[in-house]
Amino acid sequence: MSTTPLHAPVDPSVDHALRLIVTGASTESTCTTDLAAGPWNFDTIPGYGPGSSMGDVIPTGSPRQGELPAAYREAEEAELHDRIRAAKQTLGDRVVILGHFYQREEVVQHADYVGDSFQLATAAKEHPDAKAIVFCGVHFMAETADLLSGPDQAVILPNLAAGCSMADMADIDQVEECWEQLAEVYGPMDVADDEGLVPVIPVTYMNSSAAIKGFVGRHGGIVCTSSNARTVLEWAFARGRRVLFFPDQHLGRNTAKAMGVPLEQMPMWNPRRPLGGSSTADLQDARVILWHGFCSVHRRFTVAQIDQARAEHPGVRVIVHPECPMEVVDAADEAGSTDYIRKAIAAATEPTTFAVGTEINLVRRLAAQYPQHEIFCLDPVVCPCSTMYRIHPGYLAWVLEELVAGRTPNRITVTADVADPARVALERMLAAKPPVTVP
Ligand code: SF4
Repeated sequence: MSTTPLHAPVDPSVDHALRLIVTGASTESTCTTDLAAGPWNFDTIPGYGPGSSMGDVIPTGSPRQGELPAAYREAEEAELHDRIRAAKQTLGDRVVILGHFYQREEVVQHADYVGDSFQLATAAKEHPDAKAIVFCGVHFMAETADLLSGPDQAVILPNLAAGCSMADMADIDQVEECWEQLAEVYGPMDVADDEGLVPVIPVTYMNSSAAIKGFVGRHGGIVCTSSNARTVLEWAFARGRRVLFFPDQHLGRNTAKAMGVPLEQMPMWNPRRPLGGSSTADLQDARVILWHGFCSVHRRFTVAQIDQARAEHPGVRVIVHPECPMEVVDAADEAGSTDYIRKAIAAATEPTTFAVGTEINLVRRLAAQYPQHEIFCLDPVVCPCSTMYRIHPGYLAWVLEELVAGRTPNRITVTADVADPARVALERMLAAKPPVTVP
């Protein structure tokens, strides 16, 4: 395995890096050479496809993408870019293209906005005239954009197989079942005690399905992002004895630990085991019940990688995302959302070496954007998010040309029964302010 970091300036394209690895022209390594193939090769195969989620189990019934027409599969990169630009020009203000930070460079270059999932969902609101919002990200992000956009706006996901393995780990039926079991332990879930606190406040990370956001909205709960997780937990503790946090155990644990919640009071809820695998006594004592979910991208980062970066680059500044395991966050110099990471690097006034623990597409883009710094991914293996990888310029060209032809492909809609309570949970997040006292 090569441990050569990416020295700035670099070609930010992960696609190009993968091709160089596969042809032997680069000494970098990848988690799978399949990544150099077009994602259409995996659209009809069960599973998340190549990349960081390869080992995860995809739920039955996950959306699959129909076959992408050959004209898009076989086109050269330059031709696809020309077709995208031409279709975008024809559509004008009728379309807005959103690109997540973790998208490949070849897609991001066509985006009107680049950001994290919530920034992008709100960016769509700034274009009330756009009839189509093409969301180059994953399924739950397109759902959130549909929740926040106008009823006449169509949110389009260029490849329906672009889910999110973490979001898929909290299935609505499992969450409903969990809630029923917790009610057997705690009693009626909507009855407050003499201090005005209900037994449990459900909190979901933005990276969850609309169905889960709707569940949370119906049960007095709230949504959080990786930027505001602490504020949201403080909001929840002002209203409930405990928090049920899903789907990402790591964001929940890292945030609650930083607030002083002891690890012993953070039992894990494994949906495949009775009472989530905990005892009644553990659940009674719990402050935060952590759902058994994780991000396969951020789970790849290890303390050994940090030790190696420090040994090879004395003075290196290690910044990781809070979806990383607790030991990694503890060993890093800083932890924060993608927005935090970007701002921290932008704010560095002296040439600095950064080892960054987040998705490779963002890290390579930052390395190219800030050539005065040396910026490399903490994981020496080039291994993008499997589901973000599903969006390729071929799919973007296809959906845009379908729109030009008057058709609306791959529309993502959230039904009103789910959308209404999900919006309530999102609005609570926007209104949340930290209380004066914290637990
Ligand atoms: S990076 Fe992780 S949380 Fe984000 S879409 Fe990929 S699997 Fe989901």
